[in-house]
Amino acid sequence: MKKYIGAHVSAAGGVDNVPQRASKIGANAFALFTKNQRQWVAKPLTEEVIANFKSECAKFGFRPEQILPHDSYLINLGAPETEKLEKSRAAFIDEMERCQQLGLTLLNFHPGSHLKQISEEECLDRIAESINLAHQAVPEVVTVIENTAGQGSNLGWRFEHLAHIIDKVVDKSRVGVCIDTCHTFTAGYDLGTKSACEQTFAEFDRIVGMHYLRAMHLNDSKIPLGGRVDRHHSLGKGEIGWACFEYIMQDHRFDSIPLILETIDPDIWVDEIQQLRRFAANF
Ligand SMILES: [Zn+2]
Ligand SMILES: [Zn+2]
Repeated sequence: MKKYIGAHVSAAGGVDNVPQRASKIGANAFALFTKNQRQWVAKPLTEEVIANFKSECAKFGFRPEQILPHDSYLINLGAPETEKLEKSRAAFIDEMERCQQLGLTLLNFHPGSHLKQISEEECLDRIAESINLAHQAVPEVVTVIENTAGQGSNLGWRFEHLAHIIDKVVDKSRVGVCIDTCHTFTAGYDLGTKSACEQTFAEFDRIVGMHYLRAMHLNDSKIPLGGRVDRHHSLGKGEIGWACFEYIMQDHRFDSIPLILETIDPDIWVDEIQQLRRFAANF
């Protein structure tokens, strides 16, 4: 199966519970937090949890390329204040290390915010430098920048922001992009019809390059096109509609990367995944 479809599953009780939870909803991909996403410091992963996680992944058939860890919401890799920036960089390196310990190869993160204290360009430069420092500190793990809705002073909502960061990353083999459909749409890139999707991804390819696409978040949006606010909805129930998700399922450029639901009703993830698979099968 070329489409890796799953959801961001709860890691309550330990990351080693996640593979089974993902398998139960019919997923062949999943996202997770490797620590509490609202705290700066977490206990190190124990040898036992690491071993269990790896054996559970093997048991339920999840390989590293099907798994997309997400970093903590507190981290701001473009922070204007030195203290906050250093704290963020240290926490990000810790996230990278946790991924490496778990045998994972990707780490998904939100680029950062200028908080109206530094220019966009300076903030983007800081984010790139944060990525370079993380690459130096931890081998192998690929840093995957998520595009944002452009809420507040969050950068990464324009494809040009992503290109700017990537341009200043030294090891380009270890940087990629995760496109979140909700964020893309509320940032002002239309995904409401097949032809709108074609145009938006052509623009992404021109400015960033499809070869940098390492993952997708599949979310509908409660907010209209260009609203610059991040409110996810269940697939087909929001402002984007099913056409976008049918388009992604029927295009081979989205094969073999994690396609992750962060939709608002976990009780219907099973149905959402089934519907996505139907689109892929009908192709
Ligand atoms: Zn997302
Ligand atoms: Zn979001």
